Amino acid sequence: MISSTKNSVLGLVELADTDDPINLHGSTSSRVLRDVFHDRLKGWVRSKDQWRLLNNNRVCVILRDIGSQGELELAAAKLGRIFKEPYYHRGRLMPLEVSAGFAELNGRDEDLKLAMQQAGIALKQAQKSSQLFDVYLSEWGMDASDERELVKQLEIALETGALQLYYQPKVHAGYRSLIGAEALMRWHTKDQKIITPDQFIDVAERHEIIKPMTWWAIKSAVARLARWPEQLSIAVNISPALLLEDEIMSVVQDALEIHGVTPARLNLEVTENIMIDHQDLVLSQLARLRDLDVKISIDDFGTGFSSLAYFRDLPVDEIKIDKSFVLRMLESEKDLAIVKAIIDLAHNFSLKVVAEGVENLDIANRLAELHCDILQGYVFDRPLPVEEFEKEYRV
Ligand code: C2E
Ligand code: CA
Ligand code: CA
Repeated sequence: MISSTKNSVLGLVELADTDDPINLHGSTSSRVLRDVFHDRLKGWVRSKDQWRLLNNNRVCVILRDIGSQGELELAAAKLGRIFKEPYYHRGRLMPLEVSAGFAELNGRDEDLKLAMQQAGIALKQAQKSSQLFDVYLSEWGMDASDERELVKQLEIALETGALQLYYQPKVHAGYRSLIGAEALMRWHTKDQKIITPDQFIDVAERHEIIKPMTWWAIKSAVARLARWPEQLSIAVNISPALLLEDEIMSVVQDALEIHGVTPARLNLEVTENIMIDHQDLVLSQLARLRDLDVKISIDDFGTGFSSLAYFRDLPVDEIKIDKSFVLRMLESEKDLAIVKAIIDLAHNFSLKVVAEGVENLDIANRLAELHCDILQGYVFDRPLPVEEFEKEYRV
């Protein structure tokens, strides 16, 4: 954290590439946008600060003499205020959306690179949780004792209800109607931060805590399903090691029975990588789960190194194309070819295909043309707190 001696803080500030119907990306308007971005930044930094353009919509700043977390929060609040003001271009109102990641910077040159990386992680964290800014926490690069502390905190979070499931809609590619949601974990800390799973799932998976966390996720998703219309499903992510636990069978079965939920409405997402090791064991466990009539999806498909041969007997229902291919499919011929190949492969084996990471309508429309079945991504919604999801989708 920011210590009491006056320190420098490195920040990365990014202007969102808002997917704007009024041609923000046209060459004139993107130039205008860049100029507006720079002008506003000039109103934010003080004369003792430094800043450098990294590209049209990202800058690196060094804020001098920041003595406390509070001072940094004040600086960030000012950034928010400055960008809150919309601007007008050719008589139209153009929204501006900015986010920032900060990291502490020590005086040495070699620390600059590290601080840049850390600020980048914080920026991503801020964007994921739709916050104006985030500050890199030293716990994010942990040693063993930090890791034990994090596990302890997770245990408390699980007991006190600080872990929550957010829901991101999955929609029918053709009709764009809601067919269900993926449940994604969020950790609400005491200091009002929302931590995304990439900050804690890896650690949880190295400890026993992943088990109660996952069982809890299954139970709360099924409880939610009991209140939702019959045609909606929920997908829960299952860490690879847990799929091989016998206990998963009874957890799933009991939850479905207690809440009287049709098993086919519960979807378990497992990553492709799990197929590489223990192939026979995995296949038989997947088959047992499917005997319960629960649906199975292969997540992050395309990133693993599984052999196509196992496809023949794979007891699954759905494949999710990894977002890295989807995000770039309109710019990169190679990514488009991968997306097409996965859709064809899945359909040849009578599996449904989900594309995740659908960030704009051009991608959504192209995927529908390619006969992808289901879409998920920011263009529809980010993962939402359950009340918000239910309100927005009237479930
Ligand atoms: P995942 O299963 O691949 O989940 C999809 C991730 O992509 C989510 O990140 C989601 O917020 C993000 N995403 C969705 N739409 C878009 C988009 O249009 N663009 C971009 N750039 N990203 C998009 P999230 O929620 O941070 O989750 C990250 C990962 O954490 C998940 O990846 C999953 O592997 C893991 N995870 C989340 N919840 C759980 C859980 O309950 N149990 C386990 N074991 N793992 C979980
Ligand atoms: Ca998933
Ligand atoms: Ca995925």
